[in-house]
Amino acid sequence: MSNPMNIVCPACSVTNRIPAERLGEHAKCGKCGSDLFTGHPTELSAENFAKHISRNDIPVLVDFWRLGAALAVRWLRRLHKQRHNSNPRCVLRN
Ligand SMILES: [Zn+2]
Repeated sequence: MSNPMNIVCPACSVTNRIPAERLGEHAKCGKCGSDLFTGHPTELSAENFAKHISRNDIPVLVDFWRLGAALAVRWLRRLHKQRHNSNPRCVLRN
């Protein structure tokens, strides 16, 4: 495995080692089989937040918002609609 990168699964939060050259090949989690790059933001919790931030070897864009914050909710909905967010070089977590 040349130049492996750590990618945290958005479904089960297990860290997967993926060769950098294979990031765009619909990589799946070795534990649960879920897609590692879904193209949609993943909701994080107090339990898995630190793992997604500290163990991913790719940039993680995080949106902090509270329920009822209209601007943040609109921005989040816009992110959900964007289909080009499936870039394997960046993941979205909120
Ligand atoms: Zn998984």
